Amino acid sequence: MNEYLNSVLEAVTRKNPNEPEYLQAVKEVLLSVEPLINNHPEYKKLGILERMIEPERIITFRVPWVNDSGDVIVNRGFRVQFSSLIGPYKGGLRLHPTVNQSIMKFLGFEQIFKNALTGLPIGGAKGGSDFDPKGKSDAEIMRFCQSFMTELYRHIGQDVDVPAGDIGVGGREIGYLFGQYKRIRNAYEGGVLTGKAVVYGGSLARTEATGYGLIFYVREMLAANNNSLNGKTVIISGSGNVAIYACEKAAANGAKVVAMSDSNGCIYDKNGIDLDLIKQIKEVQRGRIKEYLNKHPEAEYIETTSEDAPIWGIKADIALPCATQNELNLNSAKKLVENGVIAIGEGANMPLTQEATDYFLSKGVLVAPAKAANAGGVATSAIEMSQNSMRYYYTFEEVEAKLEKIMINIFKACKEQSEKYGLKNNYVAGANLAAFEKLAESMKAQGVV
Ligand code: NDP
Repeated sequence: MNEYLNSVLEAVTRKNPNEPEYLQAVKEVLLSVEPLINNHPEYKKLGILERMIEPERIITFRVPWVNDSGDVIVNRGFRVQFSSLIGPYKGGLRLHPTVNQSIMKFLGFEQIFKNALTGLPIGGAKGGSDFDPKGKSDAEIMRFCQSFMTELYRHIGQDVDVPAGDIGVGGREIGYLFGQYKRIRNAYEGGVLTGKAVVYGGSLARTEATGYGLIFYVREMLAANNNSLNGKTVIISGSGNVAIYACEKAAANGAKVVAMSDSNGCIYDKNGIDLDLIKQIKEVQRGRIKEYLNKHPEAEYIETTSEDAPIWGIKADIALPCATQNELNLNSAKKLVENGVIAIGEGANMPLTQEATDYFLSKGVLVAPAKAANAGGVATSAIEMSQNSMRYYYTFEEVEAKLEKIMINIFKACKEQSEKYGLKNNYVAGANLAAFEKLAESMKAQGVV
C-alpha cells in the first residue's frame, strides 16, 4: 500500500479501535484500489477515500418489548445510513445476538460497493438489533418488530432508506415491520421495505434471488476459466435463505451438494442433500439441522466444537460459505485446498478472513467475492421497488431473467477490472475496483457533501 493509503488506514484504525469487522472490510478495499488511486491523483485532494469510509449517519436506539412471561426486555437497535451517493440508502436488517456497531458498519460499507455493482440506483445501509429470534414465539417476534419499527419509521421511506431482510429477518419479520410502518404513517408506501410477501407487494423470485444469483456468478466465473458446475461436488455452509436457494440452483446446474450446516454443526450426505427436507426443517419447523438424521440416518452429523467449522473439512470441488462473517479461516482454507477445491463462492458477507482469501488466491483457487456474488438479493430488491412504483408485477421468469443478466454483467465488470490492472483472476480486487470507480466519479460530480 502506498503512503497515502497507509495514512488513511492508520487514521481509520485510530478512530475506530473497537471495530475489527469494520476495519477488516475497509482494509480489503484499501488494499485493492491502489492502482485506481494512482491513476487519479485528484481523489486524494477531494478526500474521496476519507468520505467513502465515513458513514453519512449512524442511528442507535432503544427497543423495549414485552416477552410472553410479561417481562420487559431492552435491546439495542441500529441503522447505519452509509451512503446516499447513487440512490436511497438500501440494505438489510439483521437480528442476531452478535450485532454491534462494528458489524453494522462493515455490512453498511460493503453494501455501498455491492449496490453500485448491480448497476441500479441504490445507496448503501445496514441495520438490525442484538435481539435473538431463536426460540421466540411468533407473538414475541411481532412485539419486537413493532417496537423496532416504532423508532425506525422516522428514519426511513421509499425515497430515503429502504431496509430488507438479512440474518434472522425473513418474510415473517418483514411483514410485522411493514404492518407497523403502515399503521404509523397512515400511508401505503409499498417500496419502503423489500422482501415483502408476494400477496401484498413483494416480488416473485426475491426469496430465491441471493442464492440463485450466487450460482449465476459462480457459473460465469467457472465458464471464464473453462470449467462448469456440472458434475461438481459442492459444500454449502448455513441452511438459511441464501444457502437453501444456492443449493437449489447448484443442483439445477448439475452439481451435487453433499453438506450444509447451521451454527451447531453440519450434515454430510454423500448421496446428495435432500433439500425438501432442509426446507421443511428450516423454513417450516424452524428446527436444527441435526434433525435431518431423523429421516436420513445414513447421513453423518458433525458438531461444531471450535473456530474451525467442520464443514470445511469435507472434500469438495466448490465451497460456498453462506452463513456469516469470518466463518472460513486460514486453517479451513488449507484443508479445502488440500482436498482439491477449485472455487469459492461467497454467499454470506465477508465469510472469508483476509488470510483465507489471500491463501486461496495464492493457490490459484477462484474466489467469487461477496460484494459481487451475493448482490443478486439486493438487485432483486431494487426490482421489487420498481414494481411497487409502477404498481405492477413481473412474472417469476421475468424477474429471474433480469437477475441472471445483472449477475452476468457484474461478473463481466469484475473480470474486466482485474484484467485492466493485470490482476489475473483476482475478482476480489476486480469487484472493489469496478465499484469504487463508479462511486468516486459520483462523489466528484456531487461536490463536497
Ligand atoms: P438466515 O438467517 O436465513 O440464515 C443464516 C444461516 O447461517 C443459518 O443457517 C444460521 O444458523 C447460520 N449462521 C448464522 N450465524 C452463524 C454463526 N455464527 N456460525 C455458524 N452459522 C451461522 O440468513 P441469510 O441466509 O439471509 O444470510 C446469510 C448470509 O448471507 C449473511 O452473511 C447475510 O448477510 C448474507 N446475505 C443475505 C442476503 C439475503 O438476501 N438474505 C443478501 C446478501 C447477503 P443458525 O440457525 O444456527 O443460527
